[in-house]
Amino acid sequence: MADIIHLLPDNVANQIAAGEVIQRPASVIKELVENSIDAGGGVIHILIKDAGKTSIQVIDNGKGMSETDARMAFERHATSKISDASDLFSIRTMGFRGEALASIASVSQVEMKTRRSDDELGIFLEIAGSRVFKQDVTHCDIGTSILVRNLFFNVPARRRFLKSDNVEKTHIFNEFYRIALVNPEVEFHFFDNDVEVFSLPVANIKQRIENIFGKNPRKRLQQQLLSIQTDTNIVSIKGFIGKPEFAQKYSDQYFFVNGRFIKHPYFNKAVMLAYNQLIKQGESPSYFIYLEVDTETIDINIHPTKTEVKFENEQAIWSILNATVKESLGKFNVVPSIDFDQDGAPDFTPVRNLENIQPPKTNFNPDYNPFQSTYSRPKFDWDKLYAGFETQKVDSFQNSLDFENEKVTPECDNNNIEINADLNSNKTSSIFQLKGKYILTSIKSGLMLIDQHNAHFRIVYETIEKQLAKNKSYSQQILFPEEISLSPDRLIIFNQIKHDLCNAGFTFENTGSNSYNIISIPSVLGTESAIAFINSMIDDLKESEINIQETFRQTLTLSLANVSAIKTGQALTEIEMNDLIDRLFSCTDCNYTPDGKKIFTVITNEEILNRFK
Ligand code: ADP
Ligand code: MG
Repeated sequence: MADIIHLLPDNVANQIAAGEVIQRPASVIKELVENSIDAGGGVIHILIKDAGKTSIQVIDNGKGMSETDARMAFERHATSKISDASDLFSIRTMGFRGEALASIASVSQVEMKTRRSDDELGIFLEIAGSRVFKQDVTHCDIGTSILVRNLFFNVPARRRFLKSDNVEKTHIFNEFYRIALVNPEVEFHFFDNDVEVFSLPVANIKQRIENIFGKNPRKRLQQQLLSIQTDTNIVSIKGFIGKPEFAQKYSDQYFFVNGRFIKHPYFNKAVMLAYNQLIKQGESPSYFIYLEVDTETIDINIHPTKTEVKFENEQAIWSILNATVKESLGKFNVVPSIDFDQDGAPDFTPVRNLENIQPPKTNFNPDYNPFQSTYSRPKFDWDKLYAGFETQKVDSFQNSLDFENEKVTPECDNNNIEINADLNSNKTSSIFQLKGKYILTSIKSGLMLIDQHNAHFRIVYETIEKQLAKNKSYSQQILFPEEISLSPDRLIIFNQIKHDLCNAGFTFENTGSNSYNIISIPSVLGTESAIAFINSMIDDLKESEINIQETFRQTLTLSLANVSAIKTGQALTEIEMNDLIDRLFSCTDCNYTPDGKKIFTVITNEEILNRFK
């Protein structure tokens, strides 16, 4: 039989490699921008069209390439950055595998212009699907410009696999942040469909963080960060951590090692443990932590997309990192941060001549006895006030129940439990709150235990759902409008959900440059922070890969219901408990919360009897 093994043609091999290196437009941005940084570009322009699906262009003013290098750059394993295996351990450049350009050119249409400072003319190269279509000399600026069009044009399955523009853009921005945060000495200009969304001047790290994340509330962000710094033989650590009170459900968390973004769950734990007891469960602090270690003590080659790194001294670094963060948090607790921002503070003119100061004069009656009242209460028939109280429903929960007074007939099917008959007959006599968490009440078939938060969650959820369906939500004005500022990636999501937020009772006023004043909020939100609420909605959506608009109304209803439902620990009066039960059993589903938790359970008469045997 003939031999059957043969080498794959280059373009096929490249496409396979591309599967690993180039997963989406964001990977192209990462590879091109990292190349530009490796080439010493001090100013980098990034331009994307349609979330990078139509085109991605990265222009730098770095060292450029010779004619031969320009051709070589697109060969697989062609790199100027390492030449033998030992170099792998001393890598300082971002790239080193020599795979990126070959991979990109195998799945897209690429045009490159490049010129070195010593050359008069530059090189123009056009490649698509790994085939060179054109090579020429050209007039161009010093540096390199690479335009990548129609990513995955020749791999339709991959192109279809790309997510919505918003999801792809979120990935792009995330990659961009990771690079921009660690290269503050590089100036960046980022254009999304011809609109400049980032203009980042050369800065120090703190300013760079602010320029990216703190667009408008610059001062506020500055006040939220604490600096950290430690130098040891093993590692030197510097950077910024968020103050505990600014912790959020999803925060910006970045580790960099030797100028490269990494993910490190173990080190993340070291940071999180330092915040133990300082932040609420489910929340996490922001951090931007830059580690420097000897290049020989790390291996960055264990993952093709290179965000995972193996450290030789992992445990020691863990302890040092944990101690560093703790120290900074400790310092902050002892020495409260000073707000140097004097804007809006009242002006005090110092008094020069102390002798002329007169104490303020006040008049008071030294014989006044507050208990000796001359006031006599008018006669009033108090009983009249309470007449009919027993039969009237009192809406007593602070936020949520007072907007829908439609009396609903019970819709709930309760698997053989005859609740209503008994609940109604024993309304005031047999109801009891246990540990601020459960409502206990007797029913025909035994003893019913209701989780008060879960029950109220269900009630509020159904109420909000009905309101949203009717576009009839209840809103309350905020006394002092809060301003929410959004980075470009968050703004994209915000714009998509704004309409639904408004339907739910929010009103916004555009204050320019990606900021909005929140004028009113849904009344169910009560005293919850509107900004925190919206931010956490955006964070949730950023994480989700599915189409935002389809799922948003559901997410919004869930979140609003969850924040406004009465909490465990809240004492309830008998009237409130009865009211809650009535409303619960008027819900379409009274058995489970909208997120699937059990609302009540029954200990049957039989079980109770058995306990006494
Ligand atoms: P790697 O970055 O891993 O070396 P790439 O495929 O990304 O591999 O790039 C191949 C080579 O092309 C690089 O080693 C570098 O010499 C050259 N190159 C790529 N982009 C640029 C650029 N913007 N400026 C100058 N040289 C570049
Ligand atoms: Mg590279």
